[in-house]
Amino acid sequence: MFRPKGIKKKLDDLVGGWFRALGYCEHCYSKQNLQWCHIKSRQYNSVRWSEYNAGCICATCHRWFTNNPDRFIKWLQKVAPKKLDMLELAFKHPFSMKKWQMQEHYELLKEKLKKPYNPMDYAREIKKDA
Ligand SMILES: [Zn+2]
Repeated sequence: MFRPKGIKKKLDDLVGGWFRALGYCEHCYSKQNLQWCHIKSRQYNSVRWSEYNAGCICATCHRWFTNNPDRFIKWLQKVAPKKLDMLELAFKHPFSMKKWQMQEHYELLKEKLKKPYNPMDYAREIKKDA
């Protein structure tokens, strides 16, 4: 299996750790074997470390969703529609990241991710003027 090194690994550890620090599976609320899951594959560096492309789920749910991607999207549409919207926008503009850009990205994320991950930030906003 390919294991990232250097700045890629630093970014993976930072962002993956930020998601896993949630402490429970966003799908089944288990506290066991938490993983950093992606919506679009990790092979796309332009969204690999995006807060909109990931979540914290347990290994069991991760496996199940990997085998049932349609259910994964359905679930996300319900609990985290903002992620899908923002991810779609970002995904329209793919770009390749040079090492120095990853380094810069790391410094930015280190600041940004001081605020803990809160899945509610990605839920549908409730319109008050309904
Ligand atoms: Zn789970």
